[in-house]
Amino acid sequence: MVILSKRFWRIGGSVLNVPHLSTYRMAANLEPDPFLTARLNMVGSQLRRRGIHDERVLSAMALVPRHEFVAPQLWDVAYSDDPLPIGEGQTISQPFIVGLMLEALNLNAGDHVLEIGTGTGYQSALLAQIAGSIISVERHRRLAEIAFSNLTRLQCGDVTVVQGDGTLGWAAGAPYDAIIVSAAAPRIPPALVEQLAEGGRLIIPVGSVETQELLLVRRQGNRTSTTWLEGCRFVPLIGAEGFSRA
Ligand code: SAH
Repeated sequence: MVILSKRFWRIGGSVLNVPHLSTYRMAANLEPDPFLTARLNMVGSQLRRRGIHDERVLSAMALVPRHEFVAPQLWDVAYSDDPLPIGEGQTISQPFIVGLMLEALNLNAGDHVLEIGTGTGYQSALLAQIAGSIISVERHRRLAEIAFSNLTRLQCGDVTVVQGDGTLGWAAGAPYDAIIVSAAAPRIPPALVEQLAEGGRLIIPVGSVETQELLLVRRQGNRTSTTWLEGCRFVPLIGAEGFSRA
């Protein structure tokens, strides 16, 4: 059941707040779940077997119903080892890449997280299970609205969906313990590093439109250190500090 009175949707300002509800409520919502076996298989064969070991990430991915974030015509492939189309020429990332990024961020229960590239909200739902409060910025208004509706329907937790240009971060909510960017940038947008808390982590794919490297940036005081994680391919991050519109 959705608590309508807790919904907050400021049309002009484009800030959408999803009501906070517990993991227990979300789990209760899922029964009976015809996709539970497919989801547990995904966790075993695509994540655990390939080296994702963070139990917080694995249990969130065993819980959050990925099929609910794509169109019903795609439900039979919702737990496959692939990205899935979500409209507007965008995709929901491959489960392994999502798991890899979430594990690399080493999230704690109370962490305040900024997500850039909400899509339809799948990864936002995972973040809400693992961390504390989530602010997620999406460029496409229609996707931001779909994400808000998905996250509210599934009672995913403390997520605020913002429609805007995430290459500038979201200064109003800073500083963040972690920032996760799920679209490819030509370089690291400076605002994202500025909006990291002391000890904060940023994960972002950086490179060309065709191919990128997943980078993990850690902030310690005024210094940052960067680690290369994996070659990858994401849809482009389009905005003031991203790629220009194609
Ligand atoms: N996080 C999603 C992935 C979405 S794909 C998941 O759970 O799988 C990447 C998203 O980034 C797309 O929805 C795209 O519209 C969005 N995007 C691209 N440029 C952006 C920008 N400057 N600010 C915010 N979102 C952006």
